[in-house]
Amino acid sequence: MTPALADYTTLGLGGRARSFVSATTEGGLIGAVRAADAAAEPVLLIGGGSNLVISDEGFPGTVVHVNTRGIGYGDADDNGAVDVTVAAGEDWDGVVAATVAEGLAGLESLSGIPGRAGATPIQNVGAYGREVAEVITQVRVHDRRDDQILVLGNEDCSFAYRTSLFKSAEARYVVLDVTFRLARQALSLPVKYAELAAELGVALGEGAGTGEVRSAVLKIRSRKGMVLSPGDPDTRSAGSFFTNPIITAADFAAVEAAASARAAGPVPKYDAGDGLVKVPAAWLIEHAGFAKGYGAPSPARVSSKHTLALVNTGSATTADLLALAREIVSGVRSAYGVTLTPEPILIGVSL
Ligand SMILES: Cc1cc2nc3c(=O)[nH]c(=O)nc-3n(C[C@H](O)[C@H](O)[C@H](O)COP(=O)(O)OP(=O)(O)OC[C@H]3O[C@@H](n4cnc5c(N)ncnc54)[C@H](O)[C@@H]3O)c2cc1C
Repeated sequence: MTPALADYTTLGLGGRARSFVSATTEGGLIGAVRAADAAAEPVLLIGGGSNLVISDEGFPGTVVHVNTRGIGYGDADDNGAVDVTVAAGEDWDGVVAATVAEGLAGLESLSGIPGRAGATPIQNVGAYGREVAEVITQVRVHDRRDDQILVLGNEDCSFAYRTSLFKSAEARYVVLDVTFRLARQALSLPVKYAELAAELGVALGEGAGTGEVRSAVLKIRSRKGMVLSPGDPDTRSAGSFFTNPIITAADFAAVEAAASARAAGPVPKYDAGDGLVKVPAAWLIEHAGFAKGYGAPSPARVSSKHTLALVNTGSATTADLLALAREIVSGVRSAYGVTLTPEPILIGVSL
């Protein structure tokens, strides 16, 4: 019998797959996907399983667990930039820690994000005002459609807020490795997030030591249950369950009117360019009546540390978690007219 996929997801949810392969070499990874494709068998790639919601029924195909390893450092160019190429299966936070220890700046704000390096381009992971797309120069992939290896430059990847060319349940591209261009310097990239700047005691736009930024980010993330901790049920999640909606100025005016009618106070917003605004999903959820911990004592509830994370405290099913997610989507829609979009990839289920 194949293992329960719950053991491979941070939510601890998901039934079994028809077959399960652990790929520890690039050849093994491509071979496993190619064999499944030749047999017209559906394929699900799993890295750290930290952005996946998998059906209680499991997956009717082959799961390939990406366990390739390797970090290669290039020589510094005249400007002190160093290309670091990382195999898809490397633990992401280990990569951040290693580059900070090497004296390289660029990844420090992305400390503590669970999962593997190969998944970072999939949803263009981001935190504390930074996105991984800012430092990715290329992504080497196996193209399943044309059965060939391709090297995609940054501009080929269609990176945008929490998405890219790669983000879909039926992945055409298997990420083999990712190259990041980092700077050999003691100072971090400029700090762009107020909470992080306050934690560091620097002004917005200033840098701090890369190690200090990493420690500060890990500290803030721990307070929010956003660093995996086996003893803490609030970290048994897929991180943020919803993306921050990006809406037009007219829709934002309607949100403000609804907030005022509910005496919900000023609505926070960030400029998203092109006349659009980004509204924090956590604010909408909280002000639609779903406080931290909402749903308890059910084992599928809102994290008690962070409104945006839905957690499985132990005995929940995927069906329970999705019922909670649907309740939140419908509550936010009726309060503010905004439809939330899930951030994780849903496998065999929908909202
Ligand atoms: C506590 C917590 C905090 C989080 N905080 C953040 C955050 O701050 N910012 C953020 O952006 N995300 C965050 N996340 C979400 C998640 O950690 C990231 O999206 C992460 O990059 C997922 O990596 P993974 O290896 O676990 O991917 P998985 O969950 O295993 O897979 C995610 C998707 O990528 C695909 N995939 C995986 N590997 C490959 C590959 N080699 N080639 C092609 N496709 C592949 C999978 O098929 C799936 O579609 C958080 C999650 C948790 C649990």
